[in-house]
Amino acid sequence: MISMTNVVELAYMASSLLFVLGILKLGKVKTAKQGNLWAAYGMALAIGATMLLLITRGDWSPREGEWTYQSHALALGAMALGSVIGWWMAVKVPMTSMPEFVAFFNGLGGSASMFVGLAEVPRAVERGQTLSSEGADFAVAVILAVLIGAVTLTGSLVAYAKLAGKLNKNRIGPLGSQGFNVVLGLVCIGAGAWGGFFAADPMGLWLSNGLLTLGSLLLGLGLTLPIGGADMPVAIALLNSYSGIAGMTTGFILKNNLLIVSGSLVGASGIILTQIMCKAMNRSLANVLVGGMGEAAGGGGSKDEGYTKVKSTSAEELAAVLDAASSVIFVPGYGLAVAQAQHKVRELAGLLEKKGCQVRYAIHPVAGRMPGHMNILLAEADVPYEQLYELDRINDDFKNTDVVVVLGANDVCNPAATNDPKSPIAGMPVLTVWDARTVVVVKRSLASGYAGIRNELFQMDNSLMFLADAKKALEDTITELKAL
Ligand code: NDP
Repeated sequence: MISMTNVVELAYMASSLLFVLGILKLGKVKTAKQGNLWAAYGMALAIGATMLLLITRGDWSPREGEWTYQSHALALGAMALGSVIGWWMAVKVPMTSMPEFVAFFNGLGGSASMFVGLAEVPRAVERGQTLSSEGADFAVAVILAVLIGAVTLTGSLVAYAKLAGKLNKNRIGPLGSQGFNVVLGLVCIGAGAWGGFFAADPMGLWLSNGLLTLGSLLLGLGLTLPIGGADMPVAIALLNSYSGIAGMTTGFILKNNLLIVSGSLVGASGIILTQIMCKAMNRSLANVLVGGMGEAAGGGGSKDEGYTKVKSTSAEELAAVLDAASSVIFVPGYGLAVAQAQHKVRELAGLLEKKGCQVRYAIHPVAGRMPGHMNILLAEADVPYEQLYELDRINDDFKNTDVVVVLGANDVCNPAATNDPKSPIAGMPVLTVWDARTVVVVKRSLASGYAGIRNELFQMDNSLMFLADAKKALEDTITELKAL
């Protein structure tokens, strides 16, 4: 006979399948929205099945001193509150602030795992036994859930603050030094071993696990503080992976296969993304973790970088240059997202194509503020995916291109990466836009980008600076081009 547990396990398998298929669909722009929806359906199914399991197993039956529906009301109330806050954030947060919020949400995932681990402490106190009395694997899972969850929580808060430009320190007292991190790591291992395998009395259990939690929270701060602002793309991917691994360990605590599967999926995909981001920035993971790249990073540099040979241009001139071009490459960057000018660039591209001009878009893997930021932005404006070229596929073509229009991008086309070995971004692959016949850089001022460094592109012989908001610049250029 099929039991309720069988039904729930089947539902969990269906959820896992929906997660995997959702990820597969996320791989292509055309199916990405559907992939997101499928994963969301998987999550809804998982929540529904878990609630069913709790009700039928009697986990929600009232205990002594509780009124009949107390646990139902608490759980449903928490879910309703979380859903409202999540919905409100998703609607309110602008696309340009999404990376900060991804970092923040990673932190919430970590804290959930930490609390699931800590919830086992009062149970062990009640039993008057060590955590390992439930099995050594169980004790290890609890220790790891607390350790990785807490590191993810505080690490993500630092990433959030750095991305939002609210923090640009790489040390707070001893926190952030490698030596102190080693000390904290040893404290966590010691406290974890004590709390998991030796402490059986209430005092010992609370003290050891409290010490493990505090040490791990501080370790999260210490590990993330030294990571330079310009390395944040890698840090976000890594923290994402940590949150998955922490989630997976809670699956072992709660004996929930779906948590193990979904946590592993997040953990593994986070590691793959970390590798992709490291490659994109030509950095080793160890190098990123030791930190330092782009200490000034986080919100752009000073307004006056001492440029002396800058040539300015206008909408009228840009329209004339584009009108005469037979090949144009647009290079979108963070500023295009800020200006929300994706529809305007599509409109301008359409006008140029009508005139027989070849139009392409060059996409740098770390352009914008989150992996895939530019792809999403351009997809919003229905830019044909075939026109999007990644760095490796386009760099050799700049030399055969008439005009490159850089739209709110800066670090991703900074020649210092290729010709200044002392530059903080030395070695990072960049779009070699300066190889084109003419480069027009559209941005509001001569200020630096996220890495906070000067850009010689602005005063190269074939460069023209169009100092304006990207949307306004594109609107004016479209008007001028139509008038030609
Ligand atoms: P940058 O941050 O280097 O430069 C963006 C430029 O846009 C600024 O110099 C700014 O200049 C300009 N800008 C801002 N607003 C507007 C506007 N309304 N109109 C026109 N221009 C505007 O961006 P890139 O995309 O070139 O490089 C991304 C950087 O972000 C890299 O350093 C990367 O490491 C980092 N990063 C990337 C992440 C990712 O996952 N992709 C995550 C975290 C960081 P001005 O103020 O003069 O207008």
